[in-house]
Amino acid sequence: MLKRVWSAAIVGIDAVKVGVEVNISGGLPGVVILGLPDSAVQESRERVKAALKNNGFDFPIRKIVINLTPADLRKEGPAFDLPISLGVLAASEQVSANLLSNFLFLGEISLDGSLRAVSGVLPIAVTAEKMGIAGLVVPADNVQEAAVVQGIDVYGCKHLSEVIKLLNNPQVCSPVKLDYLDYLHQGAQVVNNGGDLRDVKGQAHARRALEIAATGGHNLIFVGPPGSGKTMLARRLPGILPPLSLDESLAVTRIYSVAGLLKNRGTLVCDRPFRSPHHSASGPSLVGGGSFPRPGEISLSHHGVLFLDELTEFKRDVLEFLRQPLEDGFVTISRTRQSVIFPAQFTLLASTNPCPCGYYGDTLQNCTCSPRQREQYWAKLSGPLMDRIDLQVAVNRLQPTEITQQTTGESTLAVRERVQQGRERANIRFQTENNLRCNAQMQSHHLQKWCQLDDSSRNLLEAAIRKLGLSARASDRILKVARTIADLALDEHLKPHHVAEAIQYRTIDRMQ
Ligand SMILES: [Zn+2]
Repeated sequence: MLKRVWSAAIVGIDAVKVGVEVNISGGLPGVVILGLPDSAVQESRERVKAALKNNGFDFPIRKIVINLTPADLRKEGPAFDLPISLGVLAASEQVSANLLSNFLFLGEISLDGSLRAVSGVLPIAVTAEKMGIAGLVVPADNVQEAAVVQGIDVYGCKHLSEVIKLLNNPQVCSPVKLDYLDYLHQGAQVVNNGGDLRDVKGQAHARRALEIAATGGHNLIFVGPPGSGKTMLARRLPGILPPLSLDESLAVTRIYSVAGLLKNRGTLVCDRPFRSPHHSASGPSLVGGGSFPRPGEISLSHHGVLFLDELTEFKRDVLEFLRQPLEDGFVTISRTRQSVIFPAQFTLLASTNPCPCGYYGDTLQNCTCSPRQREQYWAKLSGPLMDRIDLQVAVNRLQPTEITQQTTGESTLAVRERVQQGRERANIRFQTENNLRCNAQMQSHHLQKWCQLDDSSRNLLEAAIRKLGLSARASDRILKVARTIADLALDEHLKPHHVAEAIQYRTIDRMQ
């Protein structure tokens, strides 16, 4: 007898509906799984066999063919255990098949029949809802993640027996409902764990740059000697970022769901991501990859911050991978059978020493590097990557008098309020533009519209272009930063002092 159960597979960060067809017939006993299964799917036959037997069901000793459709899509992971079990039970008439087609099933099964959580449940729930499927049955640990999607009934089950109860007697089970706005609200209250800006002494210039970066979503690099507090400053950026909006939160959660990184399989990711990969990171771990492509660090930083500490320690070819995504806001991973697109709109935050010994430009210690060594050092941070960093900020070590001073700086909370105000101003401007979320994402035609210069501002910018040898891209970036500075000052028009401040943040261009 032939029966079909619905399930789904993940491709990139999207889901595809998968039919699990089970046919039981006479012939040599055995189980075959067709439809490009990976080894985890192949192994499910043994898990399913044990789970059914341990729960008093019969695993037919006949010829069982399990076909996963569409046949040309590779299937991976243990999420097909539950649909395969139900297919076998239905095809051998041990469970009623009347309601099977109403649901989409997902879940790894243990040998005792209990269900274990799987990755990628949120995108699957979104797809199931779009396809008009009435109900989604997932392991209990995945239920909150799935219930974020409002238009579909989500059932969480701890054990195979609960799924069978649902199929035989659906009226006794009720779907889980979740108020996701409640969760988002809770998330906004979370205090960041990167420390408070109040603890940072001095460094007014760097603090200001952090505030501008947070408001406009600008890429930022801190250049300074060891011990100047670059990392301490950088780790305080997430605290002053505005909270995620609902659609941003859904987009980020989707990526974390696919990557299997949702904490406690909870609901939405509410805090802006802050990823800080080690400098030994490989290209694929940074931009994404693998035979079943998985999102890399740049996608895990979507709508948040990617922090590269000690930028020059990263391999140069790895850094080159960042150029395209920084421009496009997404990355395409091509494989022979499929190519997938992962979103990657992130703010790049980096830190580096000014030279190999670390003390070039330091007021307390002399640099021991030769000019050639310094030149080679800077050549590693290729021009094109530096071109894409809007704020290049020198961070100096504190003077002894600054270290001993007792006064505290402005708190994270106070700065965050200004950042939010600045962002709101920008958002009002962006109302008629799709997909524009912060000033850093503006294109040339937006600059013409919103960054018009008066004569003295234009003269300033032209002088800077001549003196620093800036590219057209770098000059556009100055305009975007100036726009953010004007937003923070609640000014509608760009003024010369906004442009002048923006030019100040081209430290590296001035050093070369
Ligand atoms: Zn040096």
